[in-house]
Amino acid sequence: MKIIVLVKQVPGTDSVKLDPVTGVMVRTGKDTIINPLDENALAEAIRIKNTYPDVKITAVSMGPISAMKAIKEAIAMGADDGVLVSGREFAGSDTIATAKVIAAAIKKTGDFDMILCGERATDGETGQTAAMIAHYLGVPAQTYVSALEVLEDGVIVKRTVESGFERVQVTFPVLVSVNKDISDTGFPTLDGKLKAKKVDVPMLGNAELGFDKSELGLTGSPTRVVKIFSPKLSRDTIMVKANATMQPIDELLSFLVQKDVL
Ligand SMILES: Cc1cc2nc3c(=O)[nH]c(=O)nc-3n(C[C@H](O)[C@H](O)[C@H](O)COP(=O)(O)OP(=O)(O)OC[C@H]3O[C@@H](n4cnc5c(N)ncnc54)[C@H](O)[C@@H]3O)c2cc1C
Repeated sequence: MKIIVLVKQVPGTDSVKLDPVTGVMVRTGKDTIINPLDENALAEAIRIKNTYPDVKITAVSMGPISAMKAIKEAIAMGADDGVLVSGREFAGSDTIATAKVIAAAIKKTGDFDMILCGERATDGETGQTAAMIAHYLGVPAQTYVSALEVLEDGVIVKRTVESGFERVQVTFPVLVSVNKDISDTGFPTLDGKLKAKKVDVPMLGNAELGFDKSELGLTGSPTRVVKIFSPKLSRDTIMVKANATMQPIDELLSFLVQKDVL
């Protein structure tokens, strides 16, 4: 079985910044990690590899050259190999352009049985990319998956839905986006780290993928960030000087009545 795991390199949780002029995410910081839910997806792929024979895991990432670090980390944790999709012409891509490019890169790697990825990334956090990749590949997408059982020709997934859970059986090939309940995240092993150092990770750019430039980057991205701003929190404080125990409580009650809360 061939499993593709999508690993997005994201800023460490506290360092997500947006360029106030272009509205595009600033990705030049050094503090980067693999998107946490992608680590859950990878851990699930490794669990499957450790349970069933002949499972191969390929980590795929689209991003700047520095995203090679995310692929090497994925290999150190247990992926067999990886592919980095990178190129200047991809910069500024929104979720549609990103999904098109990732789907084309996955096609280049040959047939696959399952794509495992996170339900959303901590930086862009649209939660759109997974379903879009499935669309461009023409395979079903199973989202919000918290458990997965492998069958001979497909999987049974447990999906979180508003009213609880649903179980869906689907045949390969399939894309599955996971939430954090799917699997505990793993750790790099010494063997994995040594392998990651040695392994040659191929890079795919537009020369290999062959898109018309109008489909890529900002030109190929219908999403426009109209305005970005940090929400301002303002709080008014009312101080009540209490002479008797009940006085502040009475004042609070009349304040809540006045505000139509009670
Ligand atoms: C107008 C605009 C301009 C943008 N410009 C840039 C830019 O210049 N450079 C840039 O890097 N981003 C840019 N982005 C963000 C880019 O579109 C997102 O990184 C990408 O589309 C994923 O969106 P997301 O973070 O919402 O992922 P989600 O949809 O929340 O992610 C779901 C899952 O999809 C997978 N996934 C998503 N993206 C990737 C990826 N790149 N590689 C591997 N797996 C992935 C992961 O498994 C992830 O858990 C831009 C977005 C907009 C709207």
